[in-house]
Amino acid sequence: MKLSRLITKAADTAMPHIDKCVACSIEKGVESFLCKRCCDEINARKHGDTKAKDLCAFSVYDYEGLVSKVVRDYKYNGKRYLCAYIASEMAAAVKGDYSAICHVPLHKKRLRRRGFDQAELLAKGIAKITDIPFVRAAKRTRNTRTQVSLGLVQRQENMKGAFVSTGPISGNVVLVDDVLTTGATAAECAAVLLGAGASDVFVLTFARSTGDATRKRKWSVRKMFDILKPRNFRSK
Ligand SMILES: [Zn+2]
Repeated sequence: MKLSRLITKAADTAMPHIDKCVACSIEKGVESFLCKRCCDEINARKHGDTKAKDLCAFSVYDYEGLVSKVVRDYKYNGKRYLCAYIASEMAAAVKGDYSAICHVPLHKKRLRRRGFDQAELLAKGIAKITDIPFVRAAKRTRNTRTQVSLGLVQRQENMKGAFVSTGPISGNVVLVDDVLTTGATAAECAAVLLGAGASDVFVLTFARSTGDATRKRKWSVRKMFDILKPRNFRSK
C-alpha cells in the first residue's frame, strides 16, 4: 500500500452518524445528509455548466443561499463534520482516470488560526470515496493577502510564487478547493502541479462564487490557465 493511501485511510474524514439535516439541523435527512426542503433548495443552486470540465474546472454549486451557509458553517462555525457531505457531493463529479487527488493548501499561519485545512479534509474525503490516492503535492509558501478587493492582474501578481511543489507528480490530477472565485489561486496551484509533472489538472470545487465582482469581470479559469501555463512551462 502506498504511503499516500495509508495517509488517506488514516485521515479523520470518517462519515459521522447523521440523524439531522446537516444544513438546518431540524428535520431528519432520510436518504441523504439533507432534509427534503434543504435538498430542494441546494439543488436549485446546482452549477449548470456541464462543459466545465473542458475549462479544467468544475464547481458543483453556485455560492449562494444554503450553499454559502454550508461552506461558512464548515469553515468558520466549527461544523467540520460537514466535510463528509461536501466531499460526497464533490466526489460524484470525479469521472475519469485520475492518478491523484490534491488540494489547494492553506499557509501554515492560516492553518494554525483555523485549526484545519478545509480543502485538505475535502480532498481526503473525496480520495476515500473515489479510491484515488490523496497526495500532498503543493505547499503554500506565502501567506497571500485577501483578494476580495483586487482586480485580475493584481490577483495574479498576488498569487505569483505562492505555491511550490513538494515532489514530482504524474498523470491527471484532481485539484480540490472549497470555493472558486476568480480561479487565480487554483490556477496558480495547478500551474505548480503541471510544472511538477502532472499531465493535466482538473480543478474541482464545491461552490463557485457568483458575486458581482466575478460576474462583472467574467474571468474564466481557462483564461487563467492560458496566462499561467506558458510561464510555468518556460521556467521548467
Ligand atoms: Zn434541512
